[in-house]
Amino acid sequence: MFNNLEVCQAVLNALPDATFLKDEQQRVVFLNRKACELFGKTAGEILGHSPLADLDPTLVDMIIERDGHVLKTGEDIEYEHQMLNRDNVLISMMVRCSRIIFHDVPYVLVSLNDITILRESEAQTRYLAYHDILTGLHNRTALYEQLNQVVVPGAGKHAGGIGGLLLLMDLDGFKNINDTYGHQAGDFVLCEFGRRLQGVAPQASLVARMGGDEFSLLTHQPVGRAQAEDLCRQIVNLTQIPFTLTGASPFVTVSVGVTVITEAVITAGELLRKADAALYEAKRQGKNMHCFYSESLDANLSSKRRMEKALANALSAGRDITCAYQPLIRAADNHIIGVEALARWRDDELGEISPVQFVPLAEETGLIIPLGKLILRQACREMLRWSDLSLSVNISPIQLRDGGFAPMVLALLAELRFPPERLELELTETAIMNSDANSKHQLVLLRAAGVRISLDDFGTGYSSLSLLKDIVVDSVKIDRSFVQFVTQLKDTAAIVTAVSHLGVKLNLEVIAEGVETPEQQQFLVDAGCTQMQGFLFSKPLTEEKLEQLLGDISRSKQLGGDNEREIKG
Ligand code: C2E
Ligand code: CA
Ligand code: CA
Repeated sequence: MFNNLEVCQAVLNALPDATFLKDEQQRVVFLNRKACELFGKTAGEILGHSPLADLDPTLVDMIIERDGHVLKTGEDIEYEHQMLNRDNVLISMMVRCSRIIFHDVPYVLVSLNDITILRESEAQTRYLAYHDILTGLHNRTALYEQLNQVVVPGAGKHAGGIGGLLLLMDLDGFKNINDTYGHQAGDFVLCEFGRRLQGVAPQASLVARMGGDEFSLLTHQPVGRAQAEDLCRQIVNLTQIPFTLTGASPFVTVSVGVTVITEAVITAGELLRKADAALYEAKRQGKNMHCFYSESLDANLSSKRRMEKALANALSAGRDITCAYQPLIRAADNHIIGVEALARWRDDELGEISPVQFVPLAEETGLIIPLGKLILRQACREMLRWSDLSLSVNISPIQLRDGGFAPMVLALLAELRFPPERLELELTETAIMNSDANSKHQLVLLRAAGVRISLDDFGTGYSSLSLLKDIVVDSVKIDRSFVQFVTQLKDTAAIVTAVSHLGVKLNLEVIAEGVETPEQQQFLVDAGCTQMQGFLFSKPLTEEKLEQLLGDISRSKQLGGDNEREIKG
């Protein structure tokens, strides 16, 4: 019924791979449609001829040898080779060969599968796995892999490259570029810096973007100290040329941490940690510079890590973190009209830690979000009972950038039944000036609900009086660094007077912080400040001490004093 040959041909034609049968002389005796397509010839043109005619001679030798092996042993084999196709494009072929014996004569059955697309997508995936998309540099994974090759784990010996260098770099002030000029400008600076870095990198070194604004450079070549210093200086100088964009010239600098790859280094992690400690030191010493790792740096870093861990623990356990309250005084009559909540942290092992230390650490690590929330909740809860006092709480710009900030604050106020009008959020001048559209929106939402916004540390950031007109705030707090010198320095006195006058004209409360002497108080009252705060009136107090103070004052009123909550300067 069936014509065997026809069935056979039909089956072969349905196969997805180019398939053909060759005799011992490499002559094609049978083939399918895909094979015709691959060779670009008709069956008649191919049958009886060798398919190897147009191939590279070395490839032909290899094929003949492998076919010979199949014919002799009957073993199935599979291999991949690359060749040029009819359009002269390099393609990858998967070749499968097996033996068929027909009337005692052996033949090779070959099937060819074009796996070019598969190999290309694999190569692309590999590329993506080891490269940074934005800059085209290598990425963190590539660096780790290279480091692991430099350092042979466990053996305590190197595969080579003793005296090579690992550099970690971090752009200083990069966040400002994103905030001020937008992300496109930020991306441009990252790409341009990466390009410049590659330009000065020693030959055969690996330059990678570690993520964010962090870069690394690894060189295996032994480098002398002078050469290493020279390389670092070149890198720091890379930012001297401005990163020009249309209409804007963002300014950044770079800090560099360096570690030398020595015999003593045992793991890749250790190298990274050392370079990181050096980078941290370069930042600490004022940025825009490089710093070599030395053993003394380890102590600093590990104490920072310890503090970070302890803070995370304290926050998740909800203990050891409290609020101190510093009274705010009305200049006109010395009455306490509010308090500022200041975070306090006491750790069993580390002791009392200043917010000047732990607030920046919390900002660096993201812990500022839970910390800020905890302080806000605690302060509102504790101040609920003094309904005539306003409550000021310090807010980090990082909290503000969190899209859910305003809703979180408003939900918390509603939950605790704390009137929004009593709450004042203190934000630094720099934070408000650098705020993006989202942060500004958070402020608008809060103000619409009745929460007041205060410009903290005025004078330490942009120090521009004209800015006061454009910013939507309810009060401005003149920084202690000015108040300190009002009675000594003429310039400072003039600035404080000008700020007070302008503030009053703009209907803002003008608060002087850090008032320590009656002379300062007198000057500030005359200059027009409306509120005051400082050790002259009261240090920050625990909740109990504040209660005592407020109790004493109201008792003195009952005993005949005529000033409610008056505090003696
Ligand atoms: P700040 O907001 O400028 O707070 C005023 C700081 O000055 C407080 O230091 C206060 O104790 C101190 N101070 C007040 N009056 C005087 C004075 O007359 N003389 C002197 N020498 N100092 C005075 P503290 O409590 O150490 O806080 C330092 C900074 O930490 C704060 O500066 C604020 O920026 C930050 N901070 C504190 N608590 C928080 C918080 O809950 N969240 C955030 N984001 N930051 C906080
Ligand atoms: Ca403050
Ligand atoms: Ca301040």
